[in-house]
Amino acid sequence: MMNCKEATRLMSEGQERKLTTSEKAALSVHTMICSGCRNFSQHMKVLRTMARHFSKAADNNDDGK
Ligand SMILES: [Zn+2]
Repeated sequence: MMNCKEATRLMSEGQERKLTTSEKAALSVHTMICSGCRNFSQHMKVLRTMARHFSKAADNNDDGK
C-alpha cells in the first residue's frame, strides 16, 4: 500500500508528466482511504486552476496594451 509521502509525490509529478495507469490506480486507492491526501489533491487542483487563471490574465493584459 502506498504511503502519504508517495501519494503526494505522485500528485506533484502528475502536474509535470502523465502518470502510468498503475500509478493512477494506486493513487486513487490511497486518496479513497486517506482524507489528508484527498484534501491535498483538491488543494493541488485549486492551485493549478489559479495558476492557469493568472497566466491567462497576464496574457490578456499583454493583448490589451
Ligand atoms: Zn495519505
